[in-house]
Amino acid sequence: MNRGNGYPEPLAVPGGDRQSPVDIAVKKSVFDAELKPLVTSYDPHTCQQIWNNGYSFLVEYDDTKDKNTLTGGPLQDQFRLCQFHFHWGETNEWGSEHTVDRRLFPAEVLPHYHLIMKFNPDYCLIPVQVGKRHEGLQKLVDALPTIRHKDSIVEFNRFDPSCLLPGNINDYWTYHGSLTTPPLTESVTWIIMKQHIEVSHDQLAVFRSLLFTSAEEEVQKSMVNNFRVQQPLRGRAIRSSFTPFLQEAP
Ligand SMILES: [Zn+2]
Repeated sequence: MNRGNGYPEPLAVPGGDRQSPVDIAVKKSVFDAELKPLVTSYDPHTCQQIWNNGYSFLVEYDDTKDKNTLTGGPLQDQFRLCQFHFHWGETNEWGSEHTVDRRLFPAEVLPHYHLIMKFNPDYCLIPVQVGKRHEGLQKLVDALPTIRHKDSIVEFNRFDPSCLLPGNINDYWTYHGSLTTPPLTESVTWIIMKQHIEVSHDQLAVFRSLLFTSAEEEVQKSMVNNFRVQQPLRGRAIRSSFTPFLQEAP
């Protein structure tokens, strides 16, 4: 499977037995009736800035108070949102890190939550398909040209992350994995939404106009294919909050 080679060096750092991303084989996932619905709560006023970190763009939130929270699902505690970011491809053929039955998405959005005082992150992954223009996302798309180069940061306020959630957040898969960027730490609870959201081709084109490189560098590199290659599941179970066999055929 050709997923492009635009990223300078795939993150082939040797890891342990619980690495991410992985493929979700729908029929092998295990329905778990104990998985509760997810509950989110957001305050758009806590949105602070957007940052081109040289790998993606991060939309960062004030996480010093319980203003943006995720509870329920597989989580024992209340998690706080600190940032969200995207991964995307150079074309609409690929871009996501996780796949569902080997199906690649052109992008995915990752709200990143954590527990207070602990390194115990939780990623809630929402697959992104190309389709109609995403009105809620447009405010962010309009701001992206101001952080074209690596290390640029601009103030960014009042962005409501709930607009990036699909209509149904009760159907998801979950498994234990790792960060997909160094240090690849294996303490991540992954929650992968079954339902995708849509953004337009033109909106994705603005993502692709960002750069991996800083303004001083001679050779500029487009920020595309910013995903890690897939990792073996190694016996881990992927649990689902819904019964796969009751769902419509793909
Ligand atoms: Zn990521």
